[in-house]
Amino acid sequence: MTAPYEMRFCPNCATALTMASALEDGGPKERLRCPACAWTHWGNPTPVLAAVIENDRGEVLMARNALWEEGSFGLITGFMEAGESPEAGVCREVFEETGLRAKVLRFLGAWEFLRMNQVMIAYHIRAEGEVILSPELVEYRWQSAADVTCWPGGGGYALAHWVTSKGYTPTFRGFRPGHDPNPDPAKWPPRPWSEDPRFEIAPQI
Ligand SMILES: [Zn+2]
Repeated sequence: MTAPYEMRFCPNCATALTMASALEDGGPKERLRCPACAWTHWGNPTPVLAAVIENDRGEVLMARNALWEEGSFGLITGFMEAGESPEAGVCREVFEETGLRAKVLRFLGAWEFLRMNQVMIAYHIRAEGEVILSPELVEYRWQSAADVTCWPGGGGYALAHWVTSKGYTPTFRGFRPGHDPNPDPAKWPPRPWSEDPRFEIAPQI
């Protein structure tokens, strides 16, 4: 995997960064660090907000990004900005990208998107108004819970939660043609974390 950009210089003092070990809470850890001012490149995932937008006919808004091939539709997503809550951010994104006035109904879940070093935070949204797409989106369609297909990735699992809440069994497709259409059994079907063998319940304090 090659990242499009690489952090090479300290953003505080412009010294070249080096991989260096330092003692952290979890023990010694190698990271890119500044040898001059001790600035550390944590490389934390970026929060991305995703919206499962439902209209008053019970349909979900699916849109195609200008960079995606024909026939590829996904959820409305965008980066969380400094100074806003995730709920306010997802409503702002919905308005900027579709012109719809949005209201958050509930939190659907959060999923890692490792390839992009992002965390996808997804909400179920009720929206009103006429769709006016931003230039980054080229087309949209409203789809019923019975017709929409999900994909085994961040927003796809959020959509599958919504489909399930409507009483349907989600159908999964590949994220892109040729990709595995099968959902990760560790993530689907959803189950309470206390029943998930990947996690151990911490003893009571
Ligand atoms: Zn520095």
